[in-house]
Amino acid sequence: MLGTMMNFPLTLAPILERAGKLFSKVEVVSRLPGLGLGRCKYGDIYRRARQLAHALQLAGLKPGDRVATLMWNHAQHVEAYFGIPVAGGILHTLNLRLHANELAYIVTHARDRYLIVDDVLLPVYESIRSQVDFERVLVVPHGHVSVPNNCENYEDFLAGAIGDFIYPDLDENQAATMCFTSGTTGKPKGVLYSHRALVLHSLNECAADSFCLSQNDVALPGSSMFHANAWGIPFTATMVGAKMVLPGPHLDPESLLDLIEGESVTFAAGVPTLWLGVLAALENHPGRWNISWTVRIGAGGSAVPESLLRGLDRFGFHITHLWGMTETAPLASTGFVKSTLAQCGEDHQYKIRGKQGIPSPFVELRVMGPSGEAPWDGVSYGELEVRGPWVAASYFESPETCDRWTDDGWFKTGDIATIDSEGYLKIVDRSKDLIKSGGEWISSVDIENALMAHPAVREAAVIGVPHPKWQERPLAIMVRKEGMEVQADELRALLAAQFAKWQMPDAFLFTNELPHTSVGKLLKLELRQQYANWKWDQ
Ligand code: ADP
Repeated sequence: MLGTMMNFPLTLAPILERAGKLFSKVEVVSRLPGLGLGRCKYGDIYRRARQLAHALQLAGLKPGDRVATLMWNHAQHVEAYFGIPVAGGILHTLNLRLHANELAYIVTHARDRYLIVDDVLLPVYESIRSQVDFERVLVVPHGHVSVPNNCENYEDFLAGAIGDFIYPDLDENQAATMCFTSGTTGKPKGVLYSHRALVLHSLNECAADSFCLSQNDVALPGSSMFHANAWGIPFTATMVGAKMVLPGPHLDPESLLDLIEGESVTFAAGVPTLWLGVLAALENHPGRWNISWTVRIGAGGSAVPESLLRGLDRFGFHITHLWGMTETAPLASTGFVKSTLAQCGEDHQYKIRGKQGIPSPFVELRVMGPSGEAPWDGVSYGELEVRGPWVAASYFESPETCDRWTDDGWFKTGDIATIDSEGYLKIVDRSKDLIKSGGEWISSVDIENALMAHPAVREAAVIGVPHPKWQERPLAIMVRKEGMEVQADELRALLAAQFAKWQMPDAFLFTNELPHTSVGKLLKLELRQQYANWKWDQ
């Protein structure tokens, strides 16, 4: 017997309607390319997103057509986040930091029909123009450059949509947005997020054990809107009517802290590299920012070192560690301390918060070892697999990648992990970053974490470098904190207390900067290439 409930589709349209009807006076603040602040309200987002949807329909948008964006985090991008999907189109966010050839490949593979581009990002469009074929290019004017001849002004495009917008019938399972993996694992692959997945993901982000986003929050998505939907925060903040603060292109620590202070931000999200910078700025400029309230931080994308958790706690910034992937929309687990563990000591609690958390409701995780599913003992490791309602079941038009899913319907993440008896996930490494030394595996993440516990180490990368006898040996490359000194011997002694001799890096090097990917993660591939011919006896 069926339930007697309504079959009400889970789409983005009711989220937009809710914001327009209930939160029209709540502000959306954008840091503009020229550093000034732009202010509008959800009432404006509502009106303009529907105007965009209408204009796209008048321009001939058909259901499922891809509309690409090449934009920073700001209000017009939020309009596109809603306007394109509610018109029945698919928002395809382009990663503006990719190489032109890769970007052109993605646009062509996705068969993007229209492009919306920030005027300041026209050079990125120019770099791919000869390789792509957009039907119309709409330029968002921020007052920096005039609209080129072959493009149209986005504001004129919107103004042309006279009359009322009527929502088309939207199926909750149809695609709303599209994002390509950032390519750290081979050729970029497209993920298509359904309306339903985005709605469920947004509801999950409001859960108290997750981001706990509510109307009373001021939310700052510090993860790019061009990667994994800025972790879903623009959708969730709009759904609950939380004031949103969008940092534009300015993700340097000082600009972020100015925004957090000036706009009273209570929740912000971003990769650990961002927060390492914020911690350094807070330490180097005592008293410069007056932030007297707790700022909740969602951090993930790469492992959050314990030293960062401890360091930011001292300034009232409380990190929730999360794990996820482009393929998981992305939030799949969050690292809070369960009530049944609240009595364990402070050090233990930091160890728990340093893990990648327990799975979100409806997300299931398992670790597959050589002889089947590994026990939840915190020691047995293998490849992490995931399934759930906001986990991809395939890539866009890439049948050759079907081996990323198991026969019983789990996604193989490529991450090596353990799960402990309490269900906490720990990412040991990405499979390609594990270091194989004399038949034993060494976790680069664990050693990096330990190195960053030294007060003079700002960031650390540990990579496997070919070795004539041991196959690979670990090499540590670090950036020191400004004005601080530390030598290899001291670090060796620090690690000796925690690691076996064979796990210790054989060399400790210092550099001014480590390479990062387009979304701010350590780019170990580049480091491995750089040190491929390292002579161990030097
Ligand atoms: P890409 O796969 O292109 O790097 P993603 O943003 O999808 O882009 O990256 C997902 C990967 O990031 C995960 O598979 C995992 O390796 C890593 N990751 C995400 N969150 C964490 C975390 N909290 N700790 C360690 N690694 C993480």
